[in-house]
Amino acid sequence: MYVTMKEILDDANKNYYGVISASVINLELVRGAIRAAQEENAPIIINIGQGQMTKHGDCEIISKIVRTLAGRATIPVALNLDHGKDYERITHAFRHHFSSIMIDASAYSLEENIQRTREVVKLCHSQNVTVEGEIGFIGQAADSDDEKFDLYTRVEDAVLFFKETEVDALAIAVGTAHGKYPANREPKIDFDRIKEIKQATNKPLVLHGGSDSGSDNIRQAVACGINKINVCTDTFVSCKEGLKLMLQETPYIDFMSMMMEMENIAKATIQDYIRISGSSDKASHFR
Ligand SMILES: [Zn+2]
Repeated sequence: MYVTMKEILDDANKNYYGVISASVINLELVRGAIRAAQEENAPIIINIGQGQMTKHGDCEIISKIVRTLAGRATIPVALNLDHGKDYERITHAFRHHFSSIMIDASAYSLEENIQRTREVVKLCHSQNVTVEGEIGFIGQAADSDDEKFDLYTRVEDAVLFFKETEVDALAIAVGTAHGKYPANREPKIDFDRIKEIKQATNKPLVLHGGSDSGSDNIRQAVACGINKINVCTDTFVSCKEGLKLMLQETPYIDFMSMMMEMENIAKATIQDYIRISGSSDKASHFR
């Protein structure tokens, strides 16, 4: 069933669990993610970034694929625009029935971030579309952005941001970053900060850069109040490595079999993350 991200995250917030938001760019990844969630009886959020949508995963087509497969599934499925930065792209996703939009104006001052986010909230809430905002700086793991402590989200800013913008969920900077961490070092997550933001807001909180963060870190972040964990890099890398191995071991494999196997690899990766997030069997809350 196709639902808003708010429905999924409000239940996760109320019942202290995390939900995986899986990045996709094509049919195989969407189907892999929804199959993984169906097998785990878990809610799932399908994520596509603004850049991914522009370069490859056509917004209208991805939306139709997700909504078709969601309609066949018995678990709740939401579709979220990840890191929406341009208003034009945001309205494009909105017109194509995304059930959630992330507006990332975190590069601006808090004041301007609030103003830009508020505009998107006004548009989206008029049609029951969920909005995720971001404050602080999450950045790239390869640049060690996760270690820039002075750019972590401040508790008082989170409280103000929720109040002023009325967003449904907030991405916070607490020590993770996007992509693979250098030399496999695990990020040091500021768990106390997650707890403090949760206590002060009691709203759904989002962890970006879930890939490569370590399962214990993710479990503890969820225990402290994270409700949505974004996973992109690990799915993409496991698909690429899986395809490489397949070609080495069975060079004459046909293309369709390769694509089917890649979907299975994506499914397995996402299924592992669903188990770590604590959302297995939570789809029953929605029936
Ligand atoms: Zn992100």
